[in-house]
Amino acid sequence: MKLTFPHMGNMYIVAKGMLEYLDLDVVVPPFSSKRTLSIGVKYGPEFACLPLKINLGNFIEARELGADTIIMAGGVGPCRFGLYAQVEREILEDLGYKYETLIFEPPDKHIGQFITKLKNVIGSNSWWKVFQAIKFGYQKSCAVDTIERKVQRLRPREKKVGTVDLIYKEALRSIDAAQSYQSLEEITSLALAKLENVPIDKDREVIKIGLLGEIFVLLEPFVNLDIERELGRLGVEVTRSIYLSEWINSHLLMNFAKKDKKKPFSELAKPYLNYFVGGHGRETIGYAVGFTQEGFQGLIQIAPLTCMPEIVAHNILPKIRSEFNIPIMTIYVDEHSSQAGMVTRIEAFVDLIKRQKALTFPNTL
Ligand code: SF4
Repeated sequence: MKLTFPHMGNMYIVAKGMLEYLDLDVVVPPFSSKRTLSIGVKYGPEFACLPLKINLGNFIEARELGADTIIMAGGVGPCRFGLYAQVEREILEDLGYKYETLIFEPPDKHIGQFITKLKNVIGSNSWWKVFQAIKFGYQKSCAVDTIERKVQRLRPREKKVGTVDLIYKEALRSIDAAQSYQSLEEITSLALAKLENVPIDKDREVIKIGLLGEIFVLLEPFVNLDIERELGRLGVEVTRSIYLSEWINSHLLMNFAKKDKKKPFSELAKPYLNYFVGGHGRETIGYAVGFTQEGFQGLIQIAPLTCMPEIVAHNILPKIRSEFNIPIMTIYVDEHSSQAGMVTRIEAFVDLIKRQKALTFPNTL
């Protein structure tokens, strides 16, 4: 059995780490690229949202490298995600790709089914070893996020554009290769020390923007057109509503690894959206309120075109914008989106925030 899974930002490091800990054979698909997208667009339904098309491309590219079993997340609606794994399986079958598919419904909703499916994957490994594998993968995600948060803080301040990203890339490679907790700790400390020594422009005016939206688009730089790096170049410190380690902690570990001290996003969203609308629509609203209360100067929502939960959130955001007087922009992405178009929009948005700030605090610019 050669296992593969879809790409979603740095998730491959975590998934590969967990599976290899269990001595399972893993084929990581090539990083998502224009080729991946064009394969997905060719074979995916036209009106499917972008994650389905990219995932389809990932699976076909992984098959070319010898993968024969797909591990995928299922869903419980109300958006299309609940259907995606089945749709993808049928498309692959129709195209003649011989794949076994293991679809995992969310463990917090279908724990029995989740355990049965997990048994098919883990083979003779004990449950204790599985627990250790999840813990090790989670630790990798924590290392990635610790470094990533530092990178997000430094990008807008570095004197030589790209220095921080070189360190980040190298750290990701090392975390991916790490085989023990000790090496993870050493890699994290070394990367943080290197980042600490990056020359920064202390006088540069930096604004803080919160990135909100659907998880796949938020975490996958190929799909979000590298928005975080582009914002960093424009002097913006970015914080996202979703980080991989937090997602794993809340969805796979039921908050067992870490209790969040902040007010939950569902509480913050309550006055505006008091129920689950699928995907991350409620998170988008909750974090919009949270970021605003924390003093962020702007918010950008980013989502796949036709993403139902984010369309719901999009319709509520104007209320938050007028109540809190905070600029908010929404960007939808699909296979026709271009980086140049996205950069033009964020440049205008950042300019607007800076002008607003100059009018409110005339001596700060
Ligand atoms: S959350 Fe949005 S992008 Fe993801 S499957 Fe649902 S509708 Fe599609």
